Amino acid sequence: MGCQFCSLPESRVWFEHGSVFVFKDAYPISPGHTLIVPKRHVSSLFELDEQERQDLFQALERAKNLLLTDLKPNGFNIGINDGVAAGQTVLHLHVHLIPRYIGDVADPRGGIRWIFPDKAKYWS
Ligand code: AMP
Ligand code: ZN
Repeated sequence: MGCQFCSLPESRVWFEHGSVFVFKDAYPISPGHTLIVPKRHVSSLFELDEQERQDLFQALERAKNLLLTDLKPNGFNIGINDGVAAGQTVLHLHVHLIPRYIGDVADPRGGIRWIFPDKAKYWS
């Protein structure tokens, strides 16, 4: 099977920023869930060159500003599943920008630590 993100239809692209493009996740886990993706097919963040790193961070900030205006979230989770062992299912690097809203879960404390539920709560 080909790479979904290399063959993403142009109509799905929200905006481009130099060497990266930005689109809404097809199966959003929160309203506004967005992916930032290099145009070049690499699987890991650590394969990017300097220009791609800069473009990626600038696009992340642009997307964040647009989401703040459009949806007024109260916070964000920003994450990369880097490698199959870390949960990556599409092997084309993508940064998840996940808007968070007060009350969207009963207790948001720990956030990303919940990838290991039995170790997440260091405060109890
Ligand atoms: P990961 O598990 O980090 O590799 O995440 C893959 C992400 O890509 C998931 O959040 C999916 O919902 C999303 N996804 C998969 N296929 C598509 C697609 N064709 N267009 C947009 N998002 C997609
Ligand atoms: Zn690809």
